[in-house]
Amino acid sequence: MSANKNVDYIICSKCDLLVELSSLLDGKQASCPRCYSVLISNWREPHKRHNIYALSTLFLLVLSNIFPFININFAGINNQILLNQIPSAMVNDGYTILAAFFILVVQFIPICCIIIIFLLINPIKIPIKIKLLLGRILFQLHQWMMVEIFIGAILISITKLTSYGIINLQPSFWPLCLFCFLQIRFFQCIDRRWLWQCIKPMPNLTVKPIIGQSGLSQGLRSCPCCNAILPLTQNKCTRCGIISEARYKYSLQCTIALLLTALICYIPANIMPVMITEIFGLGYPSSIIEGIILLWTDSYYFISILIFIFSIIVPLLKIASISWLCWNTKINNNNTKIMHLVYKIVKFIGRWSMIDVFIILIFSSLLRIGKLIQIYPSPGLVLFALVVILTMMAEMNFDSRLIWDRINTK
Ligand SMILES: [Zn+2]
Ligand SMILES: [Zn+2]
Repeated sequence: MSANKNVDYIICSKCDLLVELSSLLDGKQASCPRCYSVLISNWREPHKRHNIYALSTLFLLVLSNIFPFININFAGINNQILLNQIPSAMVNDGYTILAAFFILVVQFIPICCIIIIFLLINPIKIPIKIKLLLGRILFQLHQWMMVEIFIGAILISITKLTSYGIINLQPSFWPLCLFCFLQIRFFQCIDRRWLWQCIKPMPNLTVKPIIGQSGLSQGLRSCPCCNAILPLTQNKCTRCGIISEARYKYSLQCTIALLLTALICYIPANIMPVMITEIFGLGYPSSIIEGIILLWTDSYYFISILIFIFSIIVPLLKIASISWLCWNTKINNNNTKIMHLVYKIVKFIGRWSMIDVFIILIFSSLLRIGKLIQIYPSPGLVLFALVVILTMMAEMNFDSRLIWDRINTK
């Protein structure tokens, strides 16, 4: 490849270091030498591999939807649910927003992402403008997929549901688990740089890049969507067409505003009831904390600790950690590597707080057994889901390159 083209170079999207890419063996990944984020992955026959993943995950998703995935036998009465019955139950209870969120993160976004990848990597005649739009949509959507959290919620629910009746796994349970595993692996294998090369080649570099220095210090930046290397002065990417700047615009201001909103919602979300258990027509509302105490007194110690960590501790720690990161970006200290580690942990763990929301959705869809027992969601659940979404948005708005800019400018 010629030296004046930027196909040999990449600017790390997490720390802004300009790195030269050498040829990789099949199945290997290249990581940033400074922040250790994965820069590129090289797969043998990537088209074939990704097509197999795309078709198998879609097939498994269809299988997951046509049969029930769980059945409960409560006092001789059987009740079973299909995946698509969860949002239907939410709509009937007047929680259309929860139903829409569930369909989006567990079904719609994964299906969209898989179909988009399939369309982009195969020689299908699609106008380039549509291809560019699909590429932009793909990398915006994929961070909102939550199928693995839903599977975690099913596993925890099964443990707790055994106290209500006999649980039987139904035909769609295993395709659903396999779908989750395959879609995680599929998106781990997708190399953003390779995929964008399938859509449109990288624009040529106008200056000679200096390896081992930040992009900012040499007047270059990485496109946040397609990773093309662009001059700092150029706002519109000549490849994917998105308009962006060297750093996310108002990154700290937006992050802090989202964190403050999350903090305001966090207190009522933990005090208000998240679900109502109706036994023989009598309703018993319970908040997240009351639910945890109930699990503990029923000797479900592991589940109660898990829900306590993900529902109470993680959102608070996430708000505190991102605030600490925002504060430290303005101070010159030696915490850079610790800050980046905190950022990576927050990014990985934060979304798992949604597990409690999914558990209640499963309970309220499955436990509808005549007058004996019925479980409904409560407005506190919407507020709690909002806290998790706000903290996720705060983390997405935080530009991790600001951590490294403090040493880049030294
Ligand atoms: Zn890096
Ligand atoms: Zn771009």
